[in-house]
Amino acid sequence: MEEAASAQLIGANLAAVQGRITAAARAAGRPADAVTLVAVSKTHPAAAVRAALLAGQRVFGENRVQEALAKYPALRREYPHLALHLIGPLQTNKVRDAVAQFDVIETVDRPHLAEVLAREMARAGRRLPCFIEVNTGEEPQKAGILPAAADAFIVLCRDRLQLPIEGLMCIPPEHEEPAPYFALLREIARRNGLEKLSMGMSADFETAIRFGATHVRVGTAIFGARRTILPIAVTGGRGPC
Ligand SMILES: *Cc1c(COP(=O)(O)O)cnc(C)c1O
Repeated sequence: MEEAASAQLIGANLAAVQGRITAAARAAGRPADAVTLVAVSKTHPAAAVRAALLAGQRVFGENRVQEALAKYPALRREYPHLALHLIGPLQTNKVRDAVAQFDVIETVDRPHLAEVLAREMARAGRRLPCFIEVNTGEEPQKAGILPAAADAFIVLCRDRLQLPIEGLMCIPPEHEEPAPYFALLREIARRNGLEKLSMGMSADFETAIRFGATHVRVGTAIFGARRTILPIAVTGGRGPC
């Protein structure tokens, strides 16, 4: 695994990822600006985000409300035009902070959350563009609406709750070929008239672009490995990594 990156390396990594995005878009016959790079800064310090901002990056992703609250208000004062996407599960008791702090919510994944979000956006007078997260691999441990329930959920969010739903988001199963899951997400979006697709991470963003990704969420390839130990199952006495 790559090490956490220095400021200089972050600039070089960003340029390399942006170059690969442009090449993948061209190869798919799409304009380079059809794909937005969301730089995923979770677990990395504000200094790493600042290095990316200095290199011209403006769109970032965080998966926890509390971490974003600790890191981003100061950065926003320096860079008022940065855009922050929530890409992790949202608990309803964090909706107020999330609506105040984020610019895009990518993880609308259940009716109760959608209702609370709609109410809070109305109260705060802040209509944030939203993506609906689809559990394309139907993994029990993963967030997201199941594919079979997606159409009805989109209707609920968009028509009844009047949420500004712009697209769909997915995280395919980790050790599988992602292409069929990207294709599934694209098909659900197509039949519901949704234009944006947030899919593709460090390991597979070029494939996602081939399948129509408009947003790729890239962390490791920009900022290096995350040091934080995530709670993953350890088997046979071997540690993570
Ligand atoms: C961490 C994370 C990413 C970035 O993953 P990398 O493999 O580091 O690029 C993308 N999407 C979500 C939802 C994440 O939680």
